Amino acid sequence: AVPALDVRGLSTTFRTRGGGLTAVNDVSFRLGKGRVLAVIGESGSGKSAMLRSILGIQPASAQITGEVYLDGTSLLDLPAKARAATRGRDVSMVFQDPLTALDPVYTIEAQLVETLRRHLGLSRAQARRQAVELLDRVQIPSPAERVKAYPFELSGGMRQRVVIAMALACNPKVLLADEPTTALDVTVQARILDLFREIQAESDMGVVIVTHDLAVAAEVADDVVVMYAGRVVEQGPAEEVLLAPEHPYTRGLLEANVRPGQRTRPRAIPGSPPSLARLPEGCAFAPRCDAATEECWDRRPELIPLDRVRASRCHLSARPTTDTTVAVPQEA
Ligand code: SF4
Ligand code: MG
Repeated sequence: AVPALDVRGLSTTFRTRGGGLTAVNDVSFRLGKGRVLAVIGESGSGKSAMLRSILGIQPASAQITGEVYLDGTSLLDLPAKARAATRGRDVSMVFQDPLTALDPVYTIEAQLVETLRRHLGLSRAQARRQAVELLDRVQIPSPAERVKAYPFELSGGMRQRVVIAMALACNPKVLLADEPTTALDVTVQARILDLFREIQAESDMGVVIVTHDLAVAAEVADDVVVMYAGRVVEQGPAEEVLLAPEHPYTRGLLEANVRPGQRTRPRAIPGSPPSLARLPEGCAFAPRCDAATEECWDRRPELIPLDRVRASRCHLSARPTTDTTVAVPQEA
């Protein structure tokens, strides 16, 4: 089957006075239809930059290489106008702060009607009806009344629902969500995540959720991609990666996370992510890794496949397994 989104070797380099900064470095993943992929990592790992490159909203000076296929169409090969037309229609984005996505001087209705008319060519009356249906779909109570409200008249959770409704308006093939629940309190956050799951269960839309919060990933994702310093350091099915992480960075993120019922105290990863302008020679994670060896400082690890669906960028992952179930050569 053609994946909803197929990203191959995507890189994004920004020109700066000090030279090129590669914020997204050779990232590849596939997002199946009806699947949710979580991209996790600390801030500055390149997660948001990657989403913006997929959506095509990087500044013109950004150099983007690689391939991005949306339901089989190569996005990076589309002329600018055709590319712009995909936004909101085939691929849409939900940002962290709903206020940036909403215009304070227009009612929710005016904004939804405008989106629906522009992309779907609906009449004003049809668009009005559909706006109310969309609010209902994202479980906003009394949608016929709420649709007349201005953004400031709604709570943060309601506003994020409106933004999600707007992103869903054209039934996109892929929904990109950048920290969609970070600005919300925990209970509202849980309800928004439920909403994502429901929407996704009833459509074959592919969803990419960028988050620094592993609990969010565990809650909604089928697959995860872990990023560090612009590169993928681990990827695979969410259950496997989050229950049995392979990469020291993923393990560190898990230990830093507060989990319900957890006995040990969360332990933050020491230090902070490296500056992209001054990446270590070898493994970018070496300065923070308690398993680092001399080899780690000298040689950059490749992304090593662990099996058909999992990979880890760590020299330790290349070591032969000590698992005793593996056949040991017999003495002659
Ligand atoms: Fe740690 Fe070395 Fe693996 Fe990098 S390659 S994560 S420094 S053990
Ligand atoms: Mg970000």
